[in-house]
Amino acid sequence: MSLGMIILGRQGSGKGTQAVRIAERFQVVHISTGDMLRSAVQEGTELGLKAKSIMDAGGLVTDDVVNGIVAERLAKDDVQNSGFLLDGYPRTVGQATELKQLVGESLKLAINLDVSIEEVTQRMMSRGREDDTPEAIARRLELYEAETAPLIKWFESENILCVIDGLGTEIEVHQRVIEEIERNIG
Ligand code: AMP
Repeated sequence: MSLGMIILGRQGSGKGTQAVRIAERFQVVHISTGDMLRSAVQEGTELGLKAKSIMDAGGLVTDDVVNGIVAERLAKDDVQNSGFLLDGYPRTVGQATELKQLVGESLKLAINLDVSIEEVTQRMMSRGREDDTPEAIARRLELYEAETAPLIKWFESENILCVIDGLGTEIEVHQRVIEEIERNIG
């Protein structure tokens, strides 16, 4: 597996949009656990049935379940050949340690797209996604601080963290991200 990256950021930070652009630019496979879970819900699979109520409430699907779908995806040929950009995973220290087990040294960079709680709340209120009720938004932000923010320190200690200011237009942020990735991975 060549180049492995992850993108972290509060819900509403624009990480999904940036992830699509980064994956295209660096020709790596974009893997969004949120998208995979939403497809499972739509298809009504067993996984989808398990995940739906948790997602609707803004909770986190269990590490076991998410680790399983990610491990399966990372084993596919396209990822093995081209590398990956994980979006929305890992979200807990348990997931991060599992990822390290799975990919080891291929994980080159953890991009933290930094946008304040106030700003992301405004953005989420206006995007109108089905799971964006005020309660679910509050719950997701709370869980991010409790479960995901500690990962920032974890990646820092692994020496692969890079923090990007997520304020500005999509293009401005994209430029910033590209410069940082090129600077870090050459
Ligand atoms: P996202 O599109 O990344 O905001 O994900 C939407 C929802 O899917 C989240 O609010 C969680 O309920 C669930 N989800 C996505 N990724 C994960 C993950 N890595 N761990 C646990 N739950 C997840």
